[in-house]
Amino acid sequence: MRRFLVAGNWKMNGDSRRNRELVAGIVAGLQDSATVEVLVCPPLPYLAAVKSQLSGHSVLLGAQNVSEHAQGAYTGETAAGMLVDVGCSHVIVGHSERRALYGESSNVVASKFRAAADAGLIPVLCVGETLAEREAGQTEVVVGQQLAAVVETCGIAVFGRAVIAYEPVWAIGTGKVASPDEAQAVHRFIRDEIAARDETIAAGVQILYGGSMKGENADGLLSMPDIDGGLIGGASLKAADFLAITKAAQGI
Ligand code: PEP
Repeated sequence: MRRFLVAGNWKMNGDSRRNRELVAGIVAGLQDSATVEVLVCPPLPYLAAVKSQLSGHSVLLGAQNVSEHAQGAYTGETAAGMLVDVGCSHVIVGHSERRALYGESSNVVASKFRAAADAGLIPVLCVGETLAEREAGQTEVVVGQQLAAVVETCGIAVFGRAVIAYEPVWAIGTGKVASPDEAQAVHRFIRDEIAARDETIAAGVQILYGGSMKGENADGLLSMPDIDGGLIGGASLKAADFLAITKAAQGI
């Protein structure tokens, strides 16, 4: 039985004071649940402070990016082992903003995924098509290639301890959300792609939806059989908005 994962990607937002308020609001309003895991991914400089504020709470900590290298002369980069050292359990890899704005190819994403997994982190692999690709009927081709790049580099077994986030690029930060049926179809496709390599891993892997998920649309999306949670951007920056999504997951 898969558990839901509700994950907040704070992106490059917040400061010490606002983060403290946000975390305080989340832990104060969150009801413990056996079926829903909650994860927050603050910007790198705040990971340790957020970790210490989360002490004694069940909320998990993740980072938004990681180096593909384990250590060495890579100025400005952060190794997966360092993220483990400051208390992260998860790290986002291959977010569409990293792919589009920082030129991360699927090969680089696969190397980052492997570095994360090797260090004991749970990689949250983001995949998703642009609007042009969807309109050209290429959604499954694009998502299939993004997934295959990681499977070819890392093998299928690592997905026994990984998360996949389907994030249609046209839905990220736009207020345009995929319909539950549209999202479910791609989630099913992703699970089938994994199942073609390993059915047990496919049955257990959490596949999150990301793209303008909010309290108002969460229930419809999370009720679909292959949607196991959400990767939340904008709505993760206010405790009440984020908690509305965790509550929706707890109600299913
Ligand atoms: C994201 O960036 O991962 C995301 C899903 O953003 P938003 O919820 O703001 O669309």
